[in-house]
Amino acid sequence: HPPFDVHAVRRDFPILSERVNGHQLAWLDNAATTQKPQVVIDRLSEFYKHENSNIHRAAHELAARATDAYEGARNIVARFINAPSSDEIVFVRGSTEAINLVAKSWGKQNIGAGDEIIISWLEHHANIVPWQQLCVETGAVLRVIPVDDHGQVILSEFSKLLNARTKLVSFTHVSNALGTVTPAQEIIAMAHQAGAKVLLDGAQSVSHLRVDVQALDCDWLVFSGHKIFGPTGIGVLYGKPEILAATQPWQGGGNMIEDVTFEKTVYQPAPAKFEAGTGNIADAVGLGAALEYLSRIGLENVARYEHELLVYGMHALQAVPGVRLIGTAPDKASVMSFVLAGHSTQDVGKALNKVGVAVRAGHHCAQPILRRFGLETTVRPSLAFYNTYEEIDRVVAVLKQLQCSKRSFV
Ligand code: PMP
Repeated sequence: HPPFDVHAVRRDFPILSERVNGHQLAWLDNAATTQKPQVVIDRLSEFYKHENSNIHRAAHELAARATDAYEGARNIVARFINAPSSDEIVFVRGSTEAINLVAKSWGKQNIGAGDEIIISWLEHHANIVPWQQLCVETGAVLRVIPVDDHGQVILSEFSKLLNARTKLVSFTHVSNALGTVTPAQEIIAMAHQAGAKVLLDGAQSVSHLRVDVQALDCDWLVFSGHKIFGPTGIGVLYGKPEILAATQPWQGGGNMIEDVTFEKTVYQPAPAKFEAGTGNIADAVGLGAALEYLSRIGLENVARYEHELLVYGMHALQAVPGVRLIGTAPDKASVMSFVLAGHSTQDVGKALNKVGVAVRAGHHCAQPILRRFGLETTVRPSLAFYNTYEEIDRVVAVLKQLQCSKRSFV
C-alpha cells in the first residue's frame, strides 16, 4: 500500500488552517462532528447558485435539476452502504431523527405490552430515550447488554437476554464515548436467530470503516451526515424494503401522498412516505458530495491510517503518568477517552483549547456507559483521517505539562 498522504487530504479542508488562540487548530472532536472538505462547501454553493428549487412539484427546469441532484444523492448513499436500491434510503435530519422515526412508526405498530427491546450499555442517548419512551407507552421492557471492563459488549450475556419476547435489538456499531467496535455481524445473526429485528446505529462507524448493509444483514441502519464530512441537518435511515413497505408513516403532509380526500389519504411508497414536507434538499446533495469524496480516498485507506494513529495515540496517552484510559477493547475506532488524575476533565479541555486543540470534555450524551466506569465525564480526543501524529503529540505535551504544574504545587 502506498503511504497515506495526510498532508494532501488536509489541504482539502479549509478550516484545518484556522488558528485558535495563536496556534494552528487541531480538530480532535470528530466524534461530535467532522469538518467539511472544499468539495462539499462548493457543492452547496453550486446548488444554491444553479439548481435551487423545491423538488417533485413543478414542471420547470430548476425543479428538474433540484430533483435530479436530490435523487442522485440518494443513489450515492445507497451505493455507499451497498443497499440494493435507493428506495431503501430515507433522508432524515440525522441519526436521532432516524431512530425516532423507527420507534414512532414501526415501534408503535409492532411493539406491545410484555415485548422486549434490547440495547447495549454503550448506547448514545439517541438510542436509549426513544426506546424508553416506547416502553412507557406500550408496556414493553427495555433490556441492556452489559459490557466488560474494556468496554466491549459481552456476547454470552446478550444470548441470555434473547428470548421469544425479544422484538428488537438496537445497538451501536462504534461507541461514541469509548470507541469500541461492537461485533455487529454476530449480534445481528444472534438477534435474527431469535426472531428479532435489528437496528444498527452507524453514527460513529460509517466514517471509519466500510459498512455494507447486505453483508451485515441489519434491518435498519442510521447515520448522520455531519459526522461523515457532510452538512448538518441531514441524515440517513436505511431500511429493508419489506419492512419499509409494511410500516406506517410517522408524519403526514405534502410530498408523501399519492392522493388526498377529506375521507382518506393514500400514501406514496417508501421512501417518499417517510419524507413529509420539504426536506433538507441542499444538504442531502452536500452529503452526496461528501460520500463521493470519502469513496475517492477509500475507506480501506482511511481505516488503515486511522488505526495506526489510534494505536500510537493510545500508547502515548497510556504513558502519561496519571492518565486512565476508558475503553480499551482491542477492536476500537477513532475515540480515545481518558481522565487525568488530579484534574477535572473540564480543566483538561480548557488547557488543550488554550493551545488550539479541540477535544470534547463531558458526558458525550452517553451517561450510562461512563457511569459503568464510575465516571460522569471524560476527555475525548476523537480522530478522523485528516489528523496527524503531531496533533496527538500536542495533546500529550499539554497533559505532561499539567502533571508537572500540579506536582510543583503539592
Ligand atoms: N448515535 C451515536 C453513536 C452518536 O455518536 C450520535 C451523535 N453523537 C448520535 C447517535 C446522534 O446523532 P445526531 O446528533 O447527529 O442525531
